[in-house]
Amino acid sequence: ATPTSIMVGTGKGAEHGILIKGAEHLEHAHRLTTIVLDKTGTITKGEPEITDIIPMAGLDAATLLQLAVRAEKNSEHPLAQAIVSYGKQQGLVPEDPASFTAIPGHGVEVTVDGQRILVGTRKLLQDNAIDIAGAIGPMEELELQGKTVMLFALENQLSGLFAVADTVKANSAEAVAGLQNMGIEVWMITGDNSRTARAIAGAVGITNVMAEVLPEHKAEKVAALKQEGKIVAMVGDGINDAPALATADVGFAIGTGTDVAIAAADITLMRGDLTGIVAAIRLSRATMRNIK
Ligand code: ADP
Ligand code: MG
Repeated sequence: ATPTSIMVGTGKGAEHGILIKGAEHLEHAHRLTTIVLDKTGTITKGEPEITDIIPMAGLDAATLLQLAVRAEKNSEHPLAQAIVSYGKQQGLVPEDPASFTAIPGHGVEVTVDGQRILVGTRKLLQDNAIDIAGAIGPMEELELQGKTVMLFALENQLSGLFAVADTVKANSAEAVAGLQNMGIEVWMITGDNSRTARAIAGAVGITNVMAEVLPEHKAEKVAALKQEGKIVAMVGDGINDAPALATADVGFAIGTGTDVAIAAADITLMRGDLTGIVAAIRLSRATMRNIK
């Protein structure tokens, strides 16, 4: 291997906003067979916005929003932020809840005015023995539209739901097609439910979907693909993605993502645009040809 062609390769990458931490990553990138893309913030912009608020069990919409905003106020999760910014647009100035617990991959549990509130996945409510039958119909319809639904329970009773939509990045479908045309198998991985995940995957041309994967299990999924003999890249932006980025043969971080993801990755896509992966692999293939 000539160090010069590798240096030229990494230099060319930098011109395209692709920062490669070491020469060995360029060598691994040309052998990739499989790419795993995180959904939120990687395939999508990661800026979910509220689209639907449905009160239930006799709660009025204004009270539902007010309680949910207080519940989510101290969560740094993008879905929580969607509820909080919507509330602020409506002029709400939320007070802190009396107690707050984040349940990673599931939602939040808080106490407001002596009342227990849960906001999160169907599993979160079911694990708390709350009947969610009244939400199933609207929830499934919203999820088929690619929206993510958060259920809201007040004092152990299902009392509403919030739906958010996140926009797919302009070049995501083009990048997926580019990778598939190179003979690379493309997967989506997400903590979100499988109906929403499949709707978003379908919009960008992905058929291989791993959904409802808890944050601590993303790395195991990448390890399992490697076990099958695949050479695997992981692409992600979140703190949740860091162990999977480190486990993959090549980890790509989105430059607009968290510092933790960037630190764990081998290559950073400064522009946050997934076509950078296609460019990086082309570059690595060209560089390796020059070396041989
Ligand atoms: P992702 O991989 O899409 O970033 P997470 O693993 O962080 O997802 O969360 C999985 C699911 O848990 C979310 O789709 C959402 O339904 C629920 N969830 C997580 N955090 C919160 C929160 N703060 N408020 C409401 N729901 C949440
Ligand atoms: Mg993400």
